[in-house]
Amino acid sequence: MMTLAPYACSPDTSRGRRYDEAPPENRTQFQRDRDRIVHCNAFRLLEYKTQVFVNHEGDLFRTRLTHSLEVAQIARTLARNLGLNEDLIEAISLAHDLGHTPFGHAGQDELNACLRELAPEAGGFEHNLQSLRIVDELEERYAAFNGLNLCFETREGILKHCSLKVARQLGAVGERFLDRLQPSLEAQIANLADEIAYNNHDVDDGLRSGLITLNQLRQVEIFSTHHARVCRDHPNLEDRRAIAETVRAMINTLVLDLSATTLANLQGAAPASVDDVRRSAPMAAFSASIRRQADELKAFLLENLYRHYRVIRMTSKARRIVRDLFVAFMNDPRLLAQDHRRDDAVEQARAIADYIAGMTDRFAVREHQQLFRVGS
Ligand code: MG
Repeated sequence: MMTLAPYACSPDTSRGRRYDEAPPENRTQFQRDRDRIVHCNAFRLLEYKTQVFVNHEGDLFRTRLTHSLEVAQIARTLARNLGLNEDLIEAISLAHDLGHTPFGHAGQDELNACLRELAPEAGGFEHNLQSLRIVDELEERYAAFNGLNLCFETREGILKHCSLKVARQLGAVGERFLDRLQPSLEAQIANLADEIAYNNHDVDDGLRSGLITLNQLRQVEIFSTHHARVCRDHPNLEDRRAIAETVRAMINTLVLDLSATTLANLQGAAPASVDDVRRSAPMAAFSASIRRQADELKAFLLENLYRHYRVIRMTSKARRIVRDLFVAFMNDPRLLAQDHRRDDAVEQARAIADYIAGMTDRFAVREHQQLFRVGS
């Protein structure tokens, strides 16, 4: 175990769990959190949830599960470079996408729209908040409490953003939004590790799918710089390998830059504790030049991959499935198994949202067929 920097989160000074528990015997508090996340139901469901490509589109594409593992791997490297807590950053990374609906962002947006139209008093839907809800409320594995009863620091890292209205209802974990404070460095770095992971694997998956091409990507600085070098160093390399080499070089560049820039910021601000980190401006950052290049790549992916007509066709179908399910259950909650029934109308709407959000892509498709296809 590396020595923790003074600005890292230490399990010994954790702000604790919502329900008191005896300390773990052979692990730290944050290791226990990570282990609880790996063992929970929502974590296993990530295997069958869309990242960009729907689960059945091909076995080689990233899913939410493999994405979360990539985020954890990148984040742990960064944590070790920076003297941060690896166990905590791993826990945050593995949990960060637990609240995603089936069909990725399209599913979330439609579920949010449905709730706002049909049950405005219930509040909307947001995947980040749902991740927290899963670990705080929805997992049913422990005799003494709902949820996983994770440490404050893990929950703080999971809740990347939230409205002031919601923050007021969340207790301790919402306070930083009201007080305009930063989360721990572990949380800040996990967030940027997420960005490194998805930008790079979406390049890889995008090329594999044929929705974007090498020619297009050669117009993007960070890609073209590394790709040109790879092709120069290895003439006659087949495209597949050149792409893999380019992606790993991009990840490496981003990780090294994030590490160096953050370290320089830390040396400047010299925080002596996590509380200093919370009171300072954000310290985890890329250099200006790499930030600009990463933004260029992001903008490229948005325009050419996420808004590709074949992706839009998939997301429009996904939206219809989510809406059909939500409306059908709202109109007649008797279609739901007893577990998902509530007496109160607002609670019922929320329970329906939880049920749909918890579905994998394929389960949602199957449920839709069962409800709507005559003869099934
Ligand atoms: Mg993510």
